[in-house]
Amino acid sequence: MHLFILFQKPFSLRTLLVIGILSTIALGSLAVRAEDSSTTTTQVNRSHWYRGALHTHSLWSDGNAYPEVVVKWYKDHDYQFVAMTDHNSVPNQTVWSNANRGGLNALLTYADQCGDWVEQRTGESGVSIRLRTMDEYRSRFEESGKFMLLPGMEITDSYAGHAVHVNGINLVKTITRRRGDSPRDVIQNNVTAIRDQESTSGQPMLAQYCHPLMDSTASADDIARVVGLDTLEIYNGNPTGGTLNNGPQDASENLWDRVLTQRLSSLNLPVVYGVGVDDAHDYQTFPSPHGNPGRGALMVRANSLNPLAIIQAIKCGNSYTTSGVKLRDVRCVNDQITVKINAEEGVQYTTRFIGTTRDYQTQLGEASLMGRTLATSTGAVATYNFTGNELYVRARIDSTKLKENGAVAGETETAWTQPMLPHQVTSDPDIMAVSCWTEY
Ligand SMILES: [Zn+2]
Ligand SMILES: [Zn+2]
Repeated sequence: MHLFILFQKPFSLRTLLVIGILSTIALGSLAVRAEDSSTTTTQVNRSHWYRGALHTHSLWSDGNAYPEVVVKWYKDHDYQFVAMTDHNSVPNQTVWSNANRGGLNALLTYADQCGDWVEQRTGESGVSIRLRTMDEYRSRFEESGKFMLLPGMEITDSYAGHAVHVNGINLVKTITRRRGDSPRDVIQNNVTAIRDQESTSGQPMLAQYCHPLMDSTASADDIARVVGLDTLEIYNGNPTGGTLNNGPQDASENLWDRVLTQRLSSLNLPVVYGVGVDDAHDYQTFPSPHGNPGRGALMVRANSLNPLAIIQAIKCGNSYTTSGVKLRDVRCVNDQITVKINAEEGVQYTTRFIGTTRDYQTQLGEASLMGRTLATSTGAVATYNFTGNELYVRARIDSTKLKENGAVAGETETAWTQPMLPHQVTSDPDIMAVSCWTEY
């Protein structure tokens, strides 16, 4: 029976459940609230690695779960912060969503987890559920030092029919897509809109270019020239995202290297940091071709868990991307990079130091010289000594461990550090990358 028919009469959700239409749900479970005090997190010391999700969808757009269900998934899986980035709006308005959206399972899961928190009404088009705003559901999940939420949106723009998507993270209000006369123009205009809101509000924000290879017409050169761009998705766990971890150095990483090379060699623009994301849409079917949660994350090293500290740390390169490999430490002291892996028993690790040297040829035809492997080592600790001829060096750490529910078959767990530059000076032992490239 279709859910739409079920909700023709103005019964409350609880009544419907009681009369047995949704008989698979036990009545007692309705009162279960979403808080889960059993979530394990580590106490905050001076600095700490925080696991974050920077690209998620819910029923606020085309995800198939209510936002509280999305947040609970991440909190239950040892994430410490989540940015909600639904298409085209920050989750702070009054929105009624048809109860059919997301299917019956979405509603059952929501009822099971949130019980009488579910707000519904019946109108001519049937039953609708009000999507709770982040300000409403924050208090159900946030815990000081353990878990926080960031409001955001995916500005879903296009050029000549091709996707140009920019995530704005920690936004105050919705940004209307800005359009533009070229792919680069579209990215730039939306990034500028985020920067404008940031300066107007005084609230730190991130501007992130999404799935750069998905249906995009923007070239590495276009992306490289965008001013005010903080992050670029180098790993997108959504199989339709086109940025898969599908080789020793895949196309999205190669694009990142070309962006970094041009910015550091000729454009005099700061580093764009690489991030791993889920771009999750499907919280019901595992594995899913539409993107499950739990594939790509950003580990951020910060002194505390609050929006300012986390965003500042990301803007300063104090993070690494992972699809499973955990790092104990990454730092660059006296022109030596050290990567320490939190090695697992029986798993082998190969660390490749990848960078571009100053003598590369600037023509795009010489792209193979941008981001080439400069050194390789195995084991739980890897080091690289700058020669002084590098524009930047970053590390990619591959493991032999098969990734559970990876985005592609046979995927193995990997981690990616941020690019580091020669001649940086470390003043704080808790800071791994040393130069804050932005004014924040
Ligand atoms: Zn997108
Ligand atoms: Zn998305």
